[in-house]
Amino acid sequence: MPGLPTEVKYVRGVGPRLAEMLAAKGILTAEDLLYHLPFRYEDRQNPRSLDELKPGEMASVIAEVRGAALLRTRRMPLFELTLGQGRLALKCIWFHATYLEGKFHAGQTVAVFGKVEPSRSTSNLKMMQPQWELLPDASDDAETRLLEVGRITPVYESLGGSRLASRWQRKVIFNLLESARGAVPECLPRAMLERLGLPDRERALREAHFPPEGTAATELQAWSTPAHKRLIFEELFFLELGLELKRRRMRERTGIGFETSDKVREAIREVLPFHPTAAQKRTLGEIVGDMRRPSPMRRLLQGDVGSGKTIVALQAMLVAMENGYQAALMAPTEILATQHYLAARKLLERSSRRYRVVLLTGSLDEDRKRLNRAMIHRGEAQLIIGTHALIEEKVEFDRLGLIVVDEQHRFGVMQRFKLMKKPRPDGSAAQEPDVLVMTATPIPRTLALSLYGDLDVSVLDELPPGRTPIVTRRVADERAAEVWEFVRKQVAQGRQAYIVYPVIEGAGDDEPELDFPRDEEAEKKAEAPAPRKMAGRKGKAGELFAKVAQEANPAAKSGLKSAVEMYERLRTGPLAGLRVGLLHGRLSADDKEVIMRRFQRGEIDVLVATTVIEVGVDVPNATVMVVEHAERFGLAQLHQLRGRVGRGAAKSYCILMTGKRISEVGEERLNAMVRTQDGFELAELDLAIRGPGEFFGTRQAGLPDFKVANLLRDRRLLEQAKLEAERFANADPKQAEGTEAERAQVWRRLKEAWQRRYGLVEAG
Ligand code: ADP
Ligand code: MG
Repeated sequence: MPGLPTEVKYVRGVGPRLAEMLAAKGILTAEDLLYHLPFRYEDRQNPRSLDELKPGEMASVIAEVRGAALLRTRRMPLFELTLGQGRLALKCIWFHATYLEGKFHAGQTVAVFGKVEPSRSTSNLKMMQPQWELLPDASDDAETRLLEVGRITPVYESLGGSRLASRWQRKVIFNLLESARGAVPECLPRAMLERLGLPDRERALREAHFPPEGTAATELQAWSTPAHKRLIFEELFFLELGLELKRRRMRERTGIGFETSDKVREAIREVLPFHPTAAQKRTLGEIVGDMRRPSPMRRLLQGDVGSGKTIVALQAMLVAMENGYQAALMAPTEILATQHYLAARKLLERSSRRYRVVLLTGSLDEDRKRLNRAMIHRGEAQLIIGTHALIEEKVEFDRLGLIVVDEQHRFGVMQRFKLMKKPRPDGSAAQEPDVLVMTATPIPRTLALSLYGDLDVSVLDELPPGRTPIVTRRVADERAAEVWEFVRKQVAQGRQAYIVYPVIEGAGDDEPELDFPRDEEAEKKAEAPAPRKMAGRKGKAGELFAKVAQEANPAAKSGLKSAVEMYERLRTGPLAGLRVGLLHGRLSADDKEVIMRRFQRGEIDVLVATTVIEVGVDVPNATVMVVEHAERFGLAQLHQLRGRVGRGAAKSYCILMTGKRISEVGEERLNAMVRTQDGFELAELDLAIRGPGEFFGTRQAGLPDFKVANLLRDRRLLEQAKLEAERFANADPKQAEGTEAERAQVWRRLKEAWQRRYGLVEAG
């Protein structure tokens, strides 16, 4: 038999040409093919008869072809297939399906799967656009017949055209499993499998493809048969084992053991502007605990918008500075970097010590950049705040002790790792700086476990005192006049407002507002033809799609308001007399800074902006957040935007304005926003709506793409896998589970899996 690592072209029934097509789907070896599991199963043991079907249900039906015809209606060609059973009939209809012409002949047996609907013309039922498959007849070989009917039949996602459709996969995989009978190497210790009640690998693979008779349909659809569980657990176990190893290696590396003497405490006390919350105290304790340990810190500080992460980070940075080290804070946008810079300077002014704070962003003029870099290099700057400019090659630190990455979710995972690797003060090369990653996106625990599995996590789960809940309302576009009137009233009371638009200028202008270079590698990986995503892209296909979408939807052509246009309209119209400012990513860094500063000082009443203000901007006197075209924003984004208000004691408002046409998903998002202010709840919902791959947007493609696991569905297994991985990795050799050979096999497998599957993550 071919071993599992065998190249797929040597698998019986494949060959070099098909192997090329398979390679395009990431299937390179026999093993890859075996882990390509069916996405659903059809019970063809006892097929449902037509008289049992009820409208509204999803059903799979096996019946005989009675007739087939391509109908050319005025609007589009329709293909109609009539299936019969005794005197009953089922009509199947496909739109635009000219390709089906000539595929069916009376007397053939066909399996269809789809939603049963009542049919208007007769008392019969119909299915629109069902999936279908011709079943073998007497002329087919016995083996094919055996795989297709009279059993629970696996249905596979096509691996490329009709050539590699379900039927082909069934046959090839069946043969592969047959030839590998008794020879699929186990990769987990038997004792562990027995303890967890999971089947061995070979049996799991066989039964996941060809479930034994009597397997419950519900378990199959939910991927919760023992076979599925075993394969999912296996995949997650090796992910977690690798992460655990990385954590352990990190613990063994030499870092800096910071001291927290009275002098350090005093330095912090001098600048703290308020009493920290209990959660801030606890998380700072965890961070400082890491910093004192002489191995490098890798910690994630997670806290909802407004939970007060900045001050926690600043205290940690003071610890580093008081120990004679430099601290660097990296923000995703220039606006945010500038804001941190100004805030840090203001705070540190209260100190009796003299700290030098330096800003480094991409758009500073060259002279200033050179000057600042020199100060960083000579160690004259203790606190360095910047954007991605900080990870450019040219920045050399003198004694970098702590790196804080703010609002991490805007950075690609690759960048995170680059940042960790970059700073290596020469001479003392053995000392690695500590890293603290902060995120305002409340990452659902399951995602945090796998995405940041190699980081320790601290959670700020308490808001500073004196906050009043934000009132969130949905308002239809027609009532805009009332909204502007409300904004005027708030301003009259001395408050400030944001008004946010999805684009800077013109409807086609949909570039996300980020000011760090694209993580091209990650983007390439994320290349997915999801239309929703494409519309927001600048690529050729994206443009094309946007055009088509616009033509199909006239509202899109005329209706999209932009920040630049509305700034003009508002300040000369409904908001005339107020001090209105405009902020977007295409302004120069200086202009951005000026505008932001004026808004912060209360010299601007209303800030018309794009999502540049989404993350981190902190102006406690702002009490109104108006979002136009709110249906176009993602849930996480809306939550971030809302987080810009409600930062002071005054009552705050978030007004989500929408047009008439809103998709079901858009509707769901807006309702969720009105219903809850809990970031974690919203994040869970976002994850459920979008799926993990899209959760962080295309830029965050560092998420490992699983073969069988699904983070949403498999939370419990993920936690179990993490526990088991820790236990396995850290077990005393004398008490470890399994034989020595089994354990060696686990490590071998880990290496293979990580090299192939998680290569990206390993780059760190
Ligand atoms: P985020 O976690 O979203 O980054 P910030 O650090 O910007 O939140 O803090 C939000 C606001 O709360 C800021 O205005 C900050 O000064 C204020 N703040 C933070 N901690 C406290 C505290 N313990 N007591 C009072 N105000 C606080
Ligand atoms: Mg912040």
